[in-house]
Amino acid sequence: MPAATRQREPSDAYDLLVIGGGINGTGIARDASGRGLSVLLAERGDLAGFTSSSSTKLIHGGLRYLEYYEFRLVREALAERERLLRQAPHVIWPLRFVLPHDEGLRPAWMLRLGLFLYDHLARLRTLPGSKSVDLRTSPYGTPLQKRLTKGFVYSDCWVEDSRLVVLNAMDARERGATVLTRTGVVSARREGDGWVATLRDERTGTERTVRAKAVVNAAGPWVSATLGGTLGINSRAAVRLIKGSHIVVKRLFPGDQAYILQQPDKRIIFAIPYERDFTLIGTTDVPYDGEPGPVSISPEETDYLCGCINRSFDTRITPADVVWSYSGVRPLYDDAAENASAVTRDYVLDVEDQGGKAAVLSVFGGKITTYRRLAEHAIEKLKPFFPGLKPAWTGEAVLPGGAMKDADFDSFLAKLQAEKPFLPAETARRLARAYGTKAREIVGTARSMADLGDMFDGGLTAAEVDYLRVEEWAVTAEDILWRRSKLGLRTSPESASRLTAYLDRKAEAA
Ligand SMILES: Cc1cc2nc3c(=O)[nH]c(=O)nc-3n(C[C@H](O)[C@H](O)[C@H](O)COP(=O)(O)OP(=O)(O)OC[C@H]3O[C@@H](n4cnc5c(N)ncnc54)[C@H](O)[C@@H]3O)c2cc1C
Repeated sequence: MPAATRQREPSDAYDLLVIGGGINGTGIARDASGRGLSVLLAERGDLAGFTSSSSTKLIHGGLRYLEYYEFRLVREALAERERLLRQAPHVIWPLRFVLPHDEGLRPAWMLRLGLFLYDHLARLRTLPGSKSVDLRTSPYGTPLQKRLTKGFVYSDCWVEDSRLVVLNAMDARERGATVLTRTGVVSARREGDGWVATLRDERTGTERTVRAKAVVNAAGPWVSATLGGTLGINSRAAVRLIKGSHIVVKRLFPGDQAYILQQPDKRIIFAIPYERDFTLIGTTDVPYDGEPGPVSISPEETDYLCGCINRSFDTRITPADVVWSYSGVRPLYDDAAENASAVTRDYVLDVEDQGGKAAVLSVFGGKITTYRRLAEHAIEKLKPFFPGLKPAWTGEAVLPGGAMKDADFDSFLAKLQAEKPFLPAETARRLARAYGTKAREIVGTARSMADLGDMFDGGLTAAEVDYLRVEEWAVTAEDILWRRSKLGLRTSPESASRLTAYLDRKAEAA
């Protein structure tokens, strides 16, 4: 039975109502469902519609956080890096980073010391450690300006951020959670031992009421508004909104390595190989006072990011080279730091209850990297409200599509290609990366590309679109082209309109 209809019909009463379908909401819903709680997750828009699809897409310890003495965060993040790599080897993979030493900025001894610490804080080491590199002779130095003569190389990981969110939602559903997208929580109040919440279907405007013993407020940039407004609770914990933007340009350099570039303002900027033919450049840190919601890059941010590249690479870029950009708002815990870059990236979980009942747990801050551990901590904090909760379980559990022998992606891809030789090499690679072992569910018994139905740009087929609609809550062309995939970078307006028409036809027939 298709998953969208396979999930339990929404009922009226749950243990836990999770507000928000970003990485933290879906991670908590997954963990809670696996521990035996009945869970309803409500997301107002699409899964990962906001911050969780706007990140730099790194599973990293955060080398620069060492400068702020965030050792706890870095150690936890590095441990998670190893774990997540095993749990989702299709959407997470290792990256080597080249860090040039830049005369007049941080001295070489400081970089060496930082990397030494970084390597040692990552106790379990499956990734290669750091080393110094002569940029005059190494291929890593070829695209860089000749003034950069020495540097270092170290490891971190890449993550397909919005896909990681969807995988957590799918796993939560597999374990019994009800996941409703395009469903806002418009109000909630304490009643008896729990909560009564009003949910609104954002497409039809219809409202319904549900009960829950406890609420998780994982509303990201809306966490404070949800706490004070929707839930009517006064709390001292506050969110600090910091906007960050990225630009995408045609590929700037050959090779699989990324670059981490120091800037005179002490910030660092990444230049990362992206979607095979592009380079992703980011990010900025701009204090944000407006209403949370869709945000976009400013001309000043674009100029700044172009300038960062032009300081280090031989190839010069201008705003005219930007083929795509995206922005997001970090919902950080307000630790009263003066500088936007210095605000803690660690998370704070705030629990409010009423006489030991009707708890609400709010998530402030955090990183995609630490979402699994954050979820574990969140459920631990809710334990007093749910005696009989099963023990933590996500430490070794793979995410949907991630069950590959020895977490070996290349062997899995070779096997898929051997099973389905008609798939063009690039389509096989893309499907394996996006869906892992679940790619087989899309291809099914097809023996040719024609068997996969209508074709859209970038190798997208009707079979894949149907899978995304039925299994992954995709509703619009944007959900598919910019969050379930990044095929938007290769899709013509004509193909996007055909996709919309196809989705409309399917929705009418449903
Ligand atoms: C520029 C930038 C770069 C970053 N880079 C990295 C990185 O490289 N690595 C890393 O680990 N982390 C990174 N992060 C941090 C990471 O992206 C965030 O910490 C994380 O995505 C926050 O997830 P969230 O679930 O808390 O919030 P969100 O993803 O914003 O999810 C909150 C959701 O709640 C929903 N919602 C709000 N109110 C309601 C309501 N009333 N009813 C229903 N739904 C509601 C919203 O629609 C939204 O989808 C970066 C962040 C930014 C902005």
